[in-house]
Amino acid sequence: MNASHKIKRGRIAFVLFVFFALLAALIGRFVWLQIVEGDDLSAEALAQQTKNTLISPRRGNIYDRNKKELAVSVQKYVISACPENMHKLEQDIGKIASKLSEILEIDESGILEKLKKEDSKYQLIKRNVDKEITEEIKKWISEEKIKGITFDEEAKRYYPAGKLAAHVVGFTNFENNGILGVEQAMDKYLRGKPGKILSEVDAGGQGVLADESKVIDVSDGANVVLTIDEVIQDIADKALTEAIAQYKVVNGGTVTIMDPRTGEILAMVSKPDFDLNNPSAAPEGADASKWKGTNENEMNFLWNAIWRNKVVAEPYEPGSTFKTITAAIGLEEGLVTPDTTVDDYTFRLTPNSPKIDCHLPNRHGVETFRLSMYRSCNPVYSKLSQTIGLDRFYGYMKAFGFYDKTGLLLSEESLGIFQQKPTNLDMAVASFGQRFTINPLQLVTAYSAIANGGKLLKPQIIKEITDQDGNIVDRTEPEVVRNVLSRQTCDTLMDILLGVVSDPSGTGGRAYVKGYAVAGKTGTAETTKNTNRLGLADVAKQFNVAWSAPIDYKDTERYIASFAGMAPADNPVITVLVTLDYPNMVQHTGGAVAAPVAGKIIEETLEYLGVERKYTERDKKLIPKEFTVPDVRNMEIEAAVAELKKSKLEYIKENMGNTSNTKVISQYPKPGSVVREDSFIVLYMYETDKPVMVKVPDLSNKTVLEATDALNDIGLNIRVKGDGFAVSQSVSPGKEVQKGYEIDVNFEANINLED
Ligand SMILES: [Zn+2]
Repeated sequence: MNASHKIKRGRIAFVLFVFFALLAALIGRFVWLQIVEGDDLSAEALAQQTKNTLISPRRGNIYDRNKKELAVSVQKYVISACPENMHKLEQDIGKIASKLSEILEIDESGILEKLKKEDSKYQLIKRNVDKEITEEIKKWISEEKIKGITFDEEAKRYYPAGKLAAHVVGFTNFENNGILGVEQAMDKYLRGKPGKILSEVDAGGQGVLADESKVIDVSDGANVVLTIDEVIQDIADKALTEAIAQYKVVNGGTVTIMDPRTGEILAMVSKPDFDLNNPSAAPEGADASKWKGTNENEMNFLWNAIWRNKVVAEPYEPGSTFKTITAAIGLEEGLVTPDTTVDDYTFRLTPNSPKIDCHLPNRHGVETFRLSMYRSCNPVYSKLSQTIGLDRFYGYMKAFGFYDKTGLLLSEESLGIFQQKPTNLDMAVASFGQRFTINPLQLVTAYSAIANGGKLLKPQIIKEITDQDGNIVDRTEPEVVRNVLSRQTCDTLMDILLGVVSDPSGTGGRAYVKGYAVAGKTGTAETTKNTNRLGLADVAKQFNVAWSAPIDYKDTERYIASFAGMAPADNPVITVLVTLDYPNMVQHTGGAVAAPVAGKIIEETLEYLGVERKYTERDKKLIPKEFTVPDVRNMEIEAAVAELKKSKLEYIKENMGNTSNTKVISQYPKPGSVVREDSFIVLYMYETDKPVMVKVPDLSNKTVLEATDALNDIGLNIRVKGDGFAVSQSVSPGKEVQKGYEIDVNFEANINLED
């Protein structure tokens, strides 16, 4: 972060470039497709259709990986009238208008006006009419022998999951063409081929006999099965929604979950989002009373801020999550090991170059390479990058895929600004993830390569294509793009990243999950106004959309907080990236706000996937089992010990030099007390009203394990509250208590949240 303040000139050039790139993208989107139901357009389309007697194919469904419906086609009806015929056949148009108005619940005078147009062959009455209502009209028509009303079937898209995975699923326009997400990317499979009845049309517009017509069979669309798991998508969506509220996140965020063994995307969430069943409704934050959902400004805003899938279409500066990549290169090339001695003293490329510092200059001094990752020391990575050298560093950037689109089957994917002719200074800053942008999916893909032992896999969003009967027509297989790292480097790196989360000095402590080993890295990248991207409020302003910017909205000092991780560390089944764009909080770092979201998602996802928890010693201390102390008085010592073992309790034998007695005379804690698993019970082998006393040690700043050892060593028990470092203890240091006494110790996650 500090470096970015000091590297101004390069940044401004970069800023301008990105700004213009964005502007170009906006203009491109200007040619938006009609998604609003316009009467004029639809009337025209329908008039054509009735002449051509096209038979529309049924659009295929979109499913999640477990065949839960995400997009389906439902039959609706378009009701129209031929006023010319009505007049020729002397129909009572007043009566017709009145009845249609009643059943369809639309304005009678409007209908009447349309029916009065004697020369018109086609007037649209209402679209999107349900089958039951259509049947009701048909019944009335046949009873009353009404002529001149036509019913056309119209396939409508319905999205049972509404907002869930909205950006991935995408939607269709009113002509049933996919224009976003999978609806667009897989349109050619989903749409099917229309059938046709080719008949000569006579001068009066009447078709000739059907048996003289040529029929081309309709072919319905194929179904698309996504790799997305609706349950995992929901877990990610809920966690991100909560985080956005809790941390006052101004510009939304993303969650991407990938199976690193196959490259399959299990969840992809982008916020803000929208309801697929009404995509142009007023988005959250917009002034609903002024929102029409039809004008050009609103459309541009929707395209650029709401419908945009940030995971693939909104490149960002990754910040410190990128140190993992630099570390991978250093380890692979044999330039560092976890134990290599490094330092975070101020780095300057040349005497006139800008300074690159840790959070505070020279904050951690000499340390091991492993610790530099736990603490996220910028200068260490700048220095390492210079040892790696330009050719090698950027060679790896290419190998990791940062110059290319991932090839995911979503046409919205766009590349960020990756350095084309980098200098040593560019590399020094890139080493900790600044002054370039990549899309979140690229980073998830790179992390997945580390998680799976070094293979860069092509990310997949489509699992299968099935026909209308559910038979598999095509199936996606995992695709290795290239090998990037050796297994050994990956194992070493995973071990370091495990420490980032589990070591008390790591920045990722809030991603810690009991029973599931999480390996990962935090990131906090500055993204001030007009730097690498526009915020929601800026886009709203640009398109003159009434938007209520959040309170305390500052134009400067915006950050994207992130956490990228893999779990379980010994055999990862998921890679997760969480990004939060502008948490409007004092504590805005990746470690403070993104890590806990990732931890929650990882825990719930692994639980859902049925991954078995493996509790570490530390976990056991954090979630102790409690036992009632049995009465072992008057028991032979062997029997007493066996009885305690049944309750998972330890013992300390006190016999005051008298070894002849084999029976327990008294015990502490007393029978019936509730103590933690592994607690010590002091067994007195002699009659005494004077218990053995010990001096309570000072536990401040000790970790759970250290404090436990310190107390156990002198025969005291501990009751752990919280996690992290000891901040208080129930008995002051130096006071004497009897052996076997339980000390309550409060721990706080005094995690290093600087990044
Ligand atoms: Zn440092």
